[in-house]
Amino acid sequence: MKIGIYGGSFNPVHNGHMHLAETALKEFELDMIFFVPCRISPHRFDGDYVSGKDRLEMLRLACGDNPKFQVSGYELENERTSYSIYTVEYFKKKFPDDELYLLVGSDMLLYFEKWYRFEDILKNVTLAVVSRTDGDRDILLEKAEKLGEYGRITIGKSAPLMVSSTEIRKKIAKNENCSCYLDKNVVQYIRMGNLYR
Ligand code: ATP
Repeated sequence: MKIGIYGGSFNPVHNGHMHLAETALKEFELDMIFFVPCRISPHRFDGDYVSGKDRLEMLRLACGDNPKFQVSGYELENERTSYSIYTVEYFKKKFPDDELYLLVGSDMLLYFEKWYRFEDILKNVTLAVVSRTDGDRDILLEKAEKLGEYGRITIGKSAPLMVSSTEIRKKIAKNENCSCYLDKNVVQYIRMGNLYR
């Protein structure tokens, strides 16, 4: 099987995240994807987080009943910085005979060599990248070639869906409607829990 590991803050999960996952299923022919919300992100330093339980629950709602999408609490259950290498090693143990893909948006590829133990990550997975910005394909291919000595990197061809959680949090705080960026059940969950106010 080809298994995708998809880490992130998912604060909240939005249509851009789901676009990446659906693109990955199609373009990289994955059999399933594990969404793994982080506990403590190595990439973000602000404290603007809702609880792990809420982020996990919103992911479950966004994944709905798609049997190819699973949500994993692995990083939330571990009280340490959520470095991707730990998660990759965990999935490698769990699925020793399967092919692992680590899914990232293009912003992450651009500084991937700064990631903790990135060489070890690339020994264990194919890094599968989906664009977040129009017209960035050449830069991504160039970057992939440079990193290619450490492992396999593949770049999707789909057009980006440009939205971020930061943008959504700001809109909610201003009481603006975000339903075009979010799953309808996630919109309702945010409203009921009065999140991001
Ligand atoms: P924030 O605005 O809070 O920084 P974010 O929208 O960038 O959040 P994260 O949860 O931090 O979302 O991202 C998790 C992963 O999803 C990263 O690999 C990121 O590049 C990717 N990603 C986020 N948004 C998109 C998008 N619109 N298209 C493709 N990939 C995305």
